[in-house]
Formats: sequence, C-alpha cells, structure tokens
Amino acid sequence: MQSDEPSRRGADPWLGHYAQRAAGMVPSEVRALFAVASHPEIVSLAGGMPNVSALPMDAVARLMADLVMERGPVALQYGSAEGNPSLRETICTVMAQEGIDAHPDDVVVTVGSQQALDLVARVFLDPGDTVVTEGPTYVTALGTFAAYQARAVHVAMDERGVLPEALGEAFTRLARDGRPAKLFYTVPTFQNPTGVTLAAERRLRVLEVCRRAGVLVLEDNPYGLLYLEGEPMRALRADAPADVVYLGSFSKTLAPGLRVGWALAPSAVRDKLVLAAESAMLSHSAFAQLAVDRYLRTQPWQEQLKVFREMYRERRDAMLGALQKHMPAGVSWTQPDGGFFVWVALPEGLDSKAMLPRAVQARVAYVPGTGFYADGEGRRAMRLSYCYPPPERILEGVHTLADVIGTELELWETFGTTAHPHSPS
Ligand code: PMP
Repeated sequence: MQSDEPSRRGADPWLGHYAQRAAGMVPSEVRALFAVASHPEIVSLAGGMPNVSALPMDAVARLMADLVMERGPVALQYGSAEGNPSLRETICTVMAQEGIDAHPDDVVVTVGSQQALDLVARVFLDPGDTVVTEGPTYVTALGTFAAYQARAVHVAMDERGVLPEALGEAFTRLARDGRPAKLFYTVPTFQNPTGVTLAAERRLRVLEVCRRAGVLVLEDNPYGLLYLEGEPMRALRADAPADVVYLGSFSKTLAPGLRVGWALAPSAVRDKLVLAAESAMLSHSAFAQLAVDRYLRTQPWQEQLKVFREMYRERRDAMLGALQKHMPAGVSWTQPDGGFFVWVALPEGLDSKAMLPRAVQARVAYVPGTGFYADGEGRRAMRLSYCYPPPERILEGVHTLADVIGTELELWETFGTTAHPHSPS
C-alpha cells in the first residue's frame, strides 16, 4: 500500500484564504514536544497529563453501562447549550469546597475549561484588545488570546503569586496608553506552569485592584482541589461574584477524556456565554455530562480525590527531593503545594530552549519557559511536571536533567558559551 503522506504535507493551496486571526494559530511548544517526549525511553517531565489510571475503572465502566441502560434516550440525545441542570447543581456543590456560593443558573457546562476560555475570549475580546496575565502563564490560554488577535501583557509574580502593586501599575499604564486591559486572566491556585499559589492575604488586594480599574477577572482553577497540604484555597470568585468569571474542570479531578468543564459567570455574562456555546457546539455531550453527574452523585469522589492527592504528593516529593539532591548550585525552583508543576530557574548563560535537544538526547524532556510568555521571556526557565511518571522515573529524569544542566554550566563557565560543536544551535 502506498502512503499518501508526502501529498498531505505539500504546499498549502489555501494559504491566501485564511482569516487574519488564523495567523495567531500556531502550535504551542508543549504540543510540538509531545511527539518526542512520548517515546518510552524518554522520561517526560513535559506533559501535564493527569494520572487517570488511579481511577476505579470497573466502577466507572459500570456506571456508564447503567447510564445507557437506564437513561439511554436522554444520554444519547441532544442537550441544551447551558448544560444538564442536574450536573450544574452538582458543580455548585463542588465549587462550595472553595467557598463559592453559586446558583446553577449561573453555570454553563463546557468542553473542558479550555472551551470556557475560548467562549470568554469570543465574547469579550476584539482584535487588538489587551489581556493582562501573570508572567509566566498557561500556554494554551495565550494561544486562545492570540487566536482572537488580542495582546497579552504579563505582570510579574513571586513565590506568593502575582504582585498586586505591579498589577495596578500595569492597569494604569495601559489605560494611559489608550489600550486599557479588558481581562485579567489568572490561575491563582497551583498555577500552570509555576505551581505557585496566590497567597490568601494578596487575594482581596488583587480583586480590589481589578475592581478599581474596571477589569473583569478570569479565574482559571482546574487544580484547586488537588491541594497537597492543608485545606482548599478560597477561590477569588468567592469574594467577588460580580467581578469574576470562574472556570472549573473535571479533567484533573476525574478524567480529561470526558471533556467536561464549566464557567460560572455573572448572569448577564453567562447568558452571552450560553449563546456563544450554542454557536460553537449546539450542545455539550449529554452522555459525558450525565456520566460525570452520576459519578459525583453515586461514587465516593472525595475519597478518590484523596487517592489522587496522595499519588501526586508522592510524586511532587520525589521531584523536589531529586532537585535538592542533584541540581547544581545556582539553579532554583518553586515549592508547589498542589497541582502538577514545578518551575525551575537556570543560572545566567543557560538557555532552556537551546538545551532541550541535548536533554532529549540524554532521555529527559521538559517544556522551555519561553512557551509560557507572549513576549519571548523565559529563556532561563523551564516547566517540569510530576503528575504522570511514577516516582522512580521522576528521580531518574531529574538526575539526568541535573547532569545536562551541569555540563551546560561547565561549558558556559569555561568558554562563555553553551554551544556544542556537534549539536544544532
Ligand atoms: N487551564 C489550565 C491552567 C490548564 O492547565 C488546563 C489544562 N492543562 C486547562 C485550563 C484546560 O483543561 P481542560 O480543558 O481539560 O479542562
């Protein structure tokens, strides 16, 4: 059989036909990495895939079979764009864990929180609009804003999250320049990519700064219930229902393959999101929604969350321990209290993107920091994820990575460059 691969990948005859916004649709660094990092001999500290194998598969299988047997005509039928009413009620009980008091009518169910992000962008952003985000921030949110031709402006964070003063200054500067911020996009809890959490005492200040500047807060919170220490954080939305659009997801607390997430928004905004959702997908999968609802109503999901937390805690501890043990002096990293990620800062002279081919050759992969900035920052940083590989692979991967960094450092200190004679630059 002949492959049709060469003709599939030939010149694009439609190149001149794309809408301008398609120019902003380029593959993310994470996506480009997936193909390489999925080779079994490479320890991938790159992807952010939840470890779904810890789910009770037999119980999930049974509830899905029961769902079809008992409610097939509803589960296999179209639904409404706002989402199943029973699931929207259940979602409100989930959000109550983070201090949110919400009405099911203010919830719209989406295809993962990624679609919620897209709908918010569609409803709020015109070409040229400005979104303020943490620096660094979630790579695919940057992709979404770029797809709507919006500009992302970063505000610095430290180990306790975004700096409220810097945020206020950015809003003032942007307004003065005639490009006021429309949204503040934030992942305040166990952030992707840094693992950093906005400290409790900063939260009200951040809300106040946004309120004073008239900027809508877009709180993206897929990791909030994966806290590895203490109690869940109080969501920003809990203290500012009128000023925050909150995005949630079952991707990390249940399974990303079901693609069920949601947005909770002030009523008028929520109505717009429902209309946008209708034009995007008519209705979400009724089957997936009812499966999630049934899971939450019939299974011990809080206990399952404890299983996930224990698993991720063990992996996080393996990563932090290995970093401590093996990394050369001058390398620093964050200390996540939850979620999936550690952010590593490299010493002067090193470039995480240039180093990646050498790391992959040594059989470890990570995501270079530049992917998480819209402005080319992040060369001396990288994201490591501990969610997927088992602890012994994490130890191996971090050890290998530390050796690669050590070699780069020696080159830099000896020659003032890390360029290798035989590697691509
Ligand atoms: N927001 C953040 C911060 C994420 O890390 C992710 C997944 N990586 C998403 C949104 C999208 O998740 P999903 O669409 O699976 O809910």
